[in-house]
Amino acid sequence: YNIPGQNISEKHQNYAIVYDLVTGIRFSVSRCAKNPVQITDDQFKQVTKLIFNRQGNTQAPPTKYEFKFKDYAPEVFRDLRRMFNVNQADYLMSLNDEIGVRAVGSSGKSGSSFYYSNDRKFIIKTIHRSEHKHLRRILKDYYNYVKENPNTLLCQFYGLHRLKMATRTGTVKVHVLVMNNLLPPMVNTADCYDLKGSTYGRKTSEKKRLQGSCLKDLNFIESKAAIYLADEKKKQMEKQLKQDVELLKNLNIMDYSLLLGLKFLNRADEELLDETSKRLSQITHQNVPGAHKNSIFDTDGGIRAIDTHGEEMDIVYYIGIIDCLTNYSTLKKLETFFRSLRHKRETISAVPPHEYGDRFLKFIFDHIKSPGDEVIEKKKGFGK
Ligand code: ATP
Ligand code: CA
Ligand code: CA
Repeated sequence: YNIPGQNISEKHQNYAIVYDLVTGIRFSVSRCAKNPVQITDDQFKQVTKLIFNRQGNTQAPPTKYEFKFKDYAPEVFRDLRRMFNVNQADYLMSLNDEIGVRAVGSSGKSGSSFYYSNDRKFIIKTIHRSEHKHLRRILKDYYNYVKENPNTLLCQFYGLHRLKMATRTGTVKVHVLVMNNLLPPMVNTADCYDLKGSTYGRKTSEKKRLQGSCLKDLNFIESKAAIYLADEKKKQMEKQLKQDVELLKNLNIMDYSLLLGLKFLNRADEELLDETSKRLSQITHQNVPGAHKNSIFDTDGGIRAIDTHGEEMDIVYYIGIIDCLTNYSTLKKLETFFRSLRHKRETISAVPPHEYGDRFLKFIFDHIKSPGDEVIEKKKGFGK
């Protein structure tokens, strides 16, 4: 299996960051209410400050390093985790300790780092201050939306934190977002597409791909790839994507991607998959109380591909919308202006949110194929 990144041992330069983050997160999570509480307006603005030091204090236990930690809207995120069916104990277990976290250098131009939990269920992404601010601004909309849309394909947010620590060069503030890893460990990152619906600069070179980078729009177009779904799934998927994108447009967000992971099955895998589904359906009986059930996905979180004749293909898709915190007004206006002087407007990534969303949907919808399409196309053929 292709596992990006490297383990972080005590000698690694990022060890202190990772240690502080998991320690801070674990401690603040364990301070949350044991039972779900009614979310009030105040809870969206709530910030908990904790000071960690070697001696320990009335708020926090002794730690290896000294750092300050802020937990934003802890009860709101706790409730989001509940809806996304993340068990509190599992969460604490997965973000278990420093050694279990892997770092991946930024895959994009934003300079973010990605830390994966050892079981690869969770990703801690460092985010820009503007993204942090934007999430705080829209948290209530996001929360209400998730509450009303159990089938949403939007990235699942589990926690928003800020770490302040001393380094050799001075004090640094690191903003992080904890989210779901859309891809199960068996999916090769080289079999993944990051799709925006734009073409300018949207190609991953063979060299980058071998280093574990995701493929992009131009790779998708060149390989004549498509998303093959059963009629009913296609309908459901398109409806949900439309709704999710509508929210993002209204929140003035753009630059997000559809992450599409492909798992190619062989016989052994299929048997394993059956086993896993069985086990997972047993686990579903112990769902977190009040958890959503996403009816687009099969039990293991993927969707089995169906070819245009209605036959199962040896492919499972993992799908979601990622990187959805870029606020158009803060970051992209200049970029649109400068690039549009030199490139065709439709081909560049930075366009206003409505335009961005429409182009995104068109690209995805154009590439979803289902048995029903054939029927429609045949009918058209007969008509002529
Ligand atoms: P940029 O802004 O330049 O696009 P970024 O630093 O904001 O980059 P993302 O776009 O969020 O980074 O993610 C970069 C890559 O990391 C994605 O293409 C994908 O391969 C992987 N990735 C990001 N989020 C997830 C997720 N939730 N699950 C699985 N993989 C993810
Ligand atoms: Ca991105
Ligand atoms: Ca980004």
